[in-house]
Amino acid sequence: MAISSEVLVVGGGLAGVTAALSAARAGADVRLVSHKASTLRQASGLIDALGYVPSASAADADDDEGPLQSPYDGIDRLRADHPLSVVGSDALRAGLSTFDDATGDSYRGEHTDRNALVPTVGGTVKPTARYPASVAAGLASDARPTLIVGLRSLTGYDARVVADGLRASGVPFPVAGAEVSFAADFAVDASLTRLATALDRDEPLEDGDGAATPAREALAAAVAPHLDDAGGPGASAARVGLPAFLGDDHPEAVRTELAERLGVDVFEVPGTPPSLPGMRLEDRLYEALDEAGVRFETGNPVVGTVTDTGGDDGRVDHVLVERKNQRVPYAAESYVLATGGLVGKGVDSDREAVREPAFGCHVPHPDDRYDWFVDEPLGDQPYARFGVATDDRLRPLAADETVQYPNVHVAGATLGGADVAREKAASGVSLATGYAAGEFAADATEQST
Ligand SMILES: Cc1cc2nc3c(=O)[nH]c(=O)nc-3n(C[C@H](O)[C@H](O)[C@H](O)COP(=O)(O)OP(=O)(O)OC[C@H]3O[C@@H](n4cnc5c(N)ncnc54)[C@H](O)[C@@H]3O)c2cc1C
Repeated sequence: MAISSEVLVVGGGLAGVTAALSAARAGADVRLVSHKASTLRQASGLIDALGYVPSASAADADDDEGPLQSPYDGIDRLRADHPLSVVGSDALRAGLSTFDDATGDSYRGEHTDRNALVPTVGGTVKPTARYPASVAAGLASDARPTLIVGLRSLTGYDARVVADGLRASGVPFPVAGAEVSFAADFAVDASLTRLATALDRDEPLEDGDGAATPAREALAAAVAPHLDDAGGPGASAARVGLPAFLGDDHPEAVRTELAERLGVDVFEVPGTPPSLPGMRLEDRLYEALDEAGVRFETGNPVVGTVTDTGGDDGRVDHVLVERKNQRVPYAAESYVLATGGLVGKGVDSDREAVREPAFGCHVPHPDDRYDWFVDEPLGDQPYARFGVATDDRLRPLAADETVQYPNVHVAGATLGGADVAREKAASGVSLATGYAAGEFAADATEQST
């Protein structure tokens, strides 16, 4: 017998979680199945809704329109097949509001339609709609002198290079970078998560003479001598940015204590994977699923679908979940497909073709593989937009452009039509289409009762 629910969401990333919350709020009985950890654990934790509109010529990203003051400003200039064009600004607004309800005080930006400008470890400033509370004191719209701090043990992040990049990008504040030693008795390549745990627990750290100092005090002591350098001669830093390792379970307490010890605001600079802000966000979203009564299981993939045996309209009757080498049927009245894009293999390709492996949805793409790419590295790369095409209720379209599965709605990076890295729109697409797919799926169950 099949395991059943009214709505089955497949995929536990930002899109799937948003779809599940939206369907549950619309009154449906929802189950979510997901295979592995989502890309949230690698992502910066920033919620980019829409930061740039690709130029009409699309040849060079330098010609793109942006950074946009508001993500809502650009939607009507995106291509017609862009997922944000398909679902519209109301869905983006509702998706962001679902996110705000789920994340509460841990995120900021919810009282404005404006994009915030957030400094990143790349030394760039990124337009983003929502940002973790831990990065709030670092916004680029703030003119206070800033010190960016790196750890000598963290390779791939040189605070002086970050500061140079920010200066070159024209930020309106004086900024300097300093590299400090912290937790020197850890392995040279101590991971961000190990450093975060030391700060969470305020672990005593050996200082080399056999004495031990609590981790937060030791970090503040390493940073303090550099505060005076930040604003140029005579101008000391009013805020300090550190890599995003300031606690996993207790980030607020870690930041507050560092700020008190240094006498300046402290913020995190979002960076490269693994991402503590992304992990904190994932934890918070899974708690929200629990609170909304969504049954959630992870670890097993959906490996296929079985369509209605009686009818010929292509409705999915149940999907097959692989558990311990067995294929277990999961049945629902409607389904949300949110298995991610090319990065997470929710959309997959080989030399011959591009596929959506879980439901076997059609993925439009040129037959000739040489047409998947263009020569200009910053140009409009066709492969970046590969994904499932849908009708206006996010139902997948077959090669002949008829609806392939009438009771399936697609969300997030599985959808085609967006170049989210270029547009700074990844989370916007996941939230807007996740919200809409959840509503469509719940709506369909209501109509069938
Ligand atoms: C390195 C990196 C950095 C990023 N930085 C940012 C950023 O700064 N700002 C921003 O807005 N966004 C960023 N993103 C994008 C963002 O994190 C999400 O990738 C995006 O919102 C898409 O989410 P999704 O839910 O569609 O897919 P995913 O996050 O890929 O989630 C898909 C889920 O489906 C599961 N799944 C896949 N196949 C199956 C199957 N057959 N059965 C069951 N489950 C399955 C996967 O295991 C996964 O849990 C970044 C992404 C990456 C990879």
